[in-house]
Amino acid sequence: MSLLVVGSVAFDAVETPFGKRERMLGGSATHFSLAASFFADVRVVGVVGGDFGPEEMAVFERQHINTDDIERVPDGQTFFWRGRYDFDLNTAHTLDTQLNVFADFKPKLSDASKQARLVFLGNIQPALQSEVREQVAGARLVALDTMNYWINTVPEQVKRAIAGVHVVIINDAEARQLAGEPNLIRAAREILSWGPRALVVKRGEFGAAMFTHETYFAIPAYPLESVFDPTGAGDTFAGGFMGYLASHDEIDEETMRRAMTFGSVMASFNVEEFGTERVSRLTQDEINQRFREFKRMTHFEEIPFERAVRATK
Ligand code: AMP
Repeated sequence: MSLLVVGSVAFDAVETPFGKRERMLGGSATHFSLAASFFADVRVVGVVGGDFGPEEMAVFERQHINTDDIERVPDGQTFFWRGRYDFDLNTAHTLDTQLNVFADFKPKLSDASKQARLVFLGNIQPALQSEVREQVAGARLVALDTMNYWINTVPEQVKRAIAGVHVVIINDAEARQLAGEPNLIRAAREILSWGPRALVVKRGEFGAAMFTHETYFAIPAYPLESVFDPTGAGDTFAGGFMGYLASHDEIDEETMRRAMTFGSVMASFNVEEFGTERVSRLTQDEINQRFREFKRMTHFEEIPFERAVRATK
């Protein structure tokens, strides 16, 4: 069944300690849809300018991602983001954000998009997220991502958008900031009290954690020796997570836990190369193999401990 994403489609300029790219395909909806396309049929709602060419479009087409709802503004420029990462690859330093065609973006959902069973509201203005949410009233599961920029400027709008979704997928620092609470467990309780059923906290190289009202689940990140570019890791995680859920009729705790693992698997591939380069040529076998490695890495047997011999005085 189909999965809908609304978010940015962008050109990114990125510099990391390992290299740089002046202009590459990026954006939250791009990274999300590429990852999700390995699991489900995906539709993208977004906007691009006249500078967005067939070469960029082909990246979506190769993965059979439906782009009918990507609006094109021929005399406008595509959203542009420039970022830098220092040796702490968990922190992106934004150097430039040019909203361009994104500034006047009013997401228009076709009838097919409105029928989507699962929806991901990628990082855009929270009032727009709420508008899209209202247009997909029948969706089985709606998830949302946001960022510090919106939490700083329009916190009440972020809170309202969160109240309308089932799952919130944000990073560690954002969860604490959003709740105004330095302790992550208490921050999670606070955010869950606003309405969502689950909170997924992305923790960069430390993995990800999932909180529901009754349960807690955490998994590490895949131990990679070379991380080239973390841009899009969060959206790629969300794409693997939501894509896997979209491929299932029943969404219970077990399915959510496997979805967390597929999210981490996809994010681990994303950071191995710049932008969308690695995920664009990923195979199903590589995904399944890394999923199994995650299982081996995190599995242990429950064997009650009993001390055999006590020391005598
Ligand atoms: P992440 O998954 O958090 O690393 O997201 C990276 C992507 O977010 C990049 O490809 C950027 O194009 C995009 N991005 C950066 N800033 C914004 C913003 N203010 N609104 C929407 N998308 C953004």
